[in-house]
Amino acid sequence: MDDIVVIGAGQAGASLVAKLRAQGFTGALTLIGDEPVLPYERPPLSKGYLLGQSNVEKLTLRPQSYYDDAQITVLTGTRVTAIDRERHLVVTDDAEIGYGQLALTTGSFARALSAEQGGGLKGVFTVRTLADVDAMRPGMHDKARVLVVGGGYIGLEAAAVASKLGCSVTLIEQGPRILGRVAAAETANYFRALHREHGIDMREGVGLDTLDGTDSVQSATLSDGTTLDVDCVIVGIGIDPATGLAEAAGLTVDNGIKTDALGQTSDPAIWSAGDCASFPFRDQRIRLESVQNAIDQAEAVAANMLGAAKPYNPFPWFWSDQYDCKLQIAGLCTGYDAVVTRGAGARMSVWYYRGDTLLAVDAMNDARSYMVGKRMLEVGVSPHAEAVADPSSNLKQLLKS
Ligand code: FAD
Repeated sequence: MDDIVVIGAGQAGASLVAKLRAQGFTGALTLIGDEPVLPYERPPLSKGYLLGQSNVEKLTLRPQSYYDDAQITVLTGTRVTAIDRERHLVVTDDAEIGYGQLALTTGSFARALSAEQGGGLKGVFTVRTLADVDAMRPGMHDKARVLVVGGGYIGLEAAAVASKLGCSVTLIEQGPRILGRVAAAETANYFRALHREHGIDMREGVGLDTLDGTDSVQSATLSDGTTLDVDCVIVGIGIDPATGLAEAAGLTVDNGIKTDALGQTSDPAIWSAGDCASFPFRDQRIRLESVQNAIDQAEAVAANMLGAAKPYNPFPWFWSDQYDCKLQIAGLCTGYDAVVTRGAGARMSVWYYRGDTLLAVDAMNDARSYMVGKRMLEVGVSPHAEAVADPSSNLKQLLKS
């Protein structure tokens, strides 16, 4: 049996190797990651871990004993610098490792501010790795003046934690509103109000010009000319897929490492899954940045590496925790042309439609809407929008109809 090597020891890489063993793969299996720790889950980094309510052990997906028992070699702290496709070799700083089949689960990296903008100053952080958050946490003490750059989910979660820690928080979003890329105005309105209730100074339509300071960051100049005194800056301006290795090896890249529906790249011996992979979905090519996708796609790819030949068909879901609000999202809202809301106040949901077709549901403190909406999407039921918006309608009945 061909040996399998997996590059990228994150959520997808860990799921892929576990699934290979669960499916009966008995060949040599190596998982290589450049972070110094075993694969861990990232969502708590901007939630409980940043708040100080978790630790590395709790984040770790599986203990070393699992990998030992399953005979999976995990090389941590090891960066792959090149792939030699002709010789079927993976090159690290001090070794060459042969492969029969290779999987790329290299994830993504957080966009950073440029040096000219002050991105190199002490006290300026991105939120991607344990190391990022370990470095950031000591600066987020009571009364610290924190500037969050970017009003996506990571920025909003970090702002919520900073406020809980007693920091004085300003959040800026250069687009006209927060969550502009991922959610409807109705969902953004909900979270804007929630953050303002908690004392966040939220400024939309305002970007960052520069950060200034000698050695450490001391002030920020915003695009509207305002200057703020700051002790700590959290940059949440999106991520880019980690495609450099694939590109250098001559694989096709198209907003991520391009795969077919099975997860196979332009080289039939090389596969890809997780944040770094772009794949066909309905009539478009997409890349998903979520735990659901990292796990489900990696498991599908593992099965396909062993010959299952089964296309990956995702049912996306996602969540975010901010203060006491649990947001659960089912589906993908991309391409929506109408939304309706159900409920009001702290517990409500936003339903996305294209024509008469339900695309997605954002449920805030509303587990029922999430569960039923998710099921509707899974079985292909699109209830009438007016019926969904009517708070007296029974969602389970709508699912049956
Ligand atoms: P990663 O987990 O990023 O793993 C990729 C690994 O590959 C990394 O360790 C990287 O260092 C390594 N690597 C890259 N290149 C090389 C190389 N050349 N050699 C060796 N190793 C390499 N998703 C949700 O669904 N819900 C949430 O609430 C949520 N919250 C999040 C909060 C934060 C702060 C972050 C950062 C992400 C969050 N996500 C959330 C997204 C989710 O964590 C990611 O989608 C998921 O981790 C993707 O898994 P992955 O394996 O593709 O990538």
